[in-house]
Amino acid sequence: MFFGRKNLFSATDAFPLSDAVLEFDDSSSVTVRPGRRALDGFGARGEWNARKKWWAVSGLIALYGLALGGFYALGMVAGEVLGVLMVLVVVGFAAFWAVLRTDVQQKIRLRHLKLAIVSTSISGMLVVFYLAPVTQILFAPFTFVAVAYGIFTVPRRTLLAMTAVVLCAYAVVIGLHHLEQHNTALLRLELLHLLALAVSVPAFVVLMGRVQRLYRSLYQASRKIKNIQEDAQRDTLLGCFNRRYILAALEEQKQLADESGIPLCLAVLDIDHFKRINDELGHLGGDEVLRTFARIAQQGVRGGDVFGRYGGEEFLLIFPATSLLPSLNTCERIRAQVETHAWSGLLKGRVTVSIGVTQYVLGESVLEFFSRADTAMYMAKEGGRNQVVVEEPIAKEDSLLSEPSGHAFL
Ligand code: GH3
Ligand code: MG
Ligand code: MG
Repeated sequence: MFFGRKNLFSATDAFPLSDAVLEFDDSSSVTVRPGRRALDGFGARGEWNARKKWWAVSGLIALYGLALGGFYALGMVAGEVLGVLMVLVVVGFAAFWAVLRTDVQQKIRLRHLKLAIVSTSISGMLVVFYLAPVTQILFAPFTFVAVAYGIFTVPRRTLLAMTAVVLCAYAVVIGLHHLEQHNTALLRLELLHLLALAVSVPAFVVLMGRVQRLYRSLYQASRKIKNIQEDAQRDTLLGCFNRRYILAALEEQKQLADESGIPLCLAVLDIDHFKRINDELGHLGGDEVLRTFARIAQQGVRGGDVFGRYGGEEFLLIFPATSLLPSLNTCERIRAQVETHAWSGLLKGRVTVSIGVTQYVLGESVLEFFSRADTAMYMAKEGGRNQVVVEEPIAKEDSLLSEPSGHAFL
């Protein structure tokens, strides 16, 4: 391979975070860089996450419903209890849906949403427990399930506080049962359950807190790696893709073109008399011209085109799945925009760019492809600069017989 490493082109996707890590709500602990979306459970990818979360909640509720259905089938709970559960689920979902549709959604953090889901679920189970004491058997395992659901998002201390409230509510239900039924055996059994819960749930939360910390570290490391990967593709001065990335992209596009046979074009762009620009504006002024040039060029290309700095004041523009004529048109548009841009009044002359463009010939090397575009760019320089020269592709078998010829467009 001539240029750099393969597969760098798709490097932004190279470190996919697991859903569990993505779920982690670290909004208070990590500063999100401007332009990089906060992973708060909402937004483009967040929408998908949110949908998955609702499926997870629905699945867990369905499991509880299934278990309660088993109790009903065995004649241990009345049909009304199932009806109450259904009403609670519908009301709960409607309430969450209504709240999340309002502007409040923007302000709700994922941890608050999850805490609300966990507490609502446990409250629902408490109501069922009040109506059918036998469901205490279900209460303990499903409380663990609910706490586990919130463990990666809701802070440990909040979960512990919630557990304390749940235990108090559980004790109140036990008291109500006793007041209504005066059943000492039931009271003893329920108190034993309460004791078991009081010991095990906080222990579970504390132990899982260690896992939570591990996930936090993993999440932060993942995000740092992603930022580093993104930075490694960018030119530090101009923000456009850098040489490493653009060359890897060229190699990848060449391979795609070889596999699919779809056209591929490449342009080499070189700012004219840049030394003079530096002399007139100083190097900082020259940097600003480079930045503006990169912005003009990037605004002039389509979404799929790849623009990057090759070095100094030279740039590459890759046109994937594009034939020569539209590529030439884009180059000509960029050339004209650079020429007509209102550059600094301190400049004595104009800022112009010379561009060489060519189409990939199937089977040729990246070096041959690049050299042809580069040659075209030098022909543009020789032809008086501020122009686009096309080096028409010559099929490999013909190239030995005839020399390529450039055509200037201006
Ligand atoms: P030509 O029209 O033939 O391309 O002439 P030129 O002066 O543009 O070309 P040459 O390659 O001789 O000079 C390029 C200059 O670009 C020399 C170098 O100092 C300057 N340059 C390269 N990188 C940077 C940069 O990052 N910032 C600034 N300000 N100048 C740079
Ligand atoms: Mg130059
Ligand atoms: Mg140059």
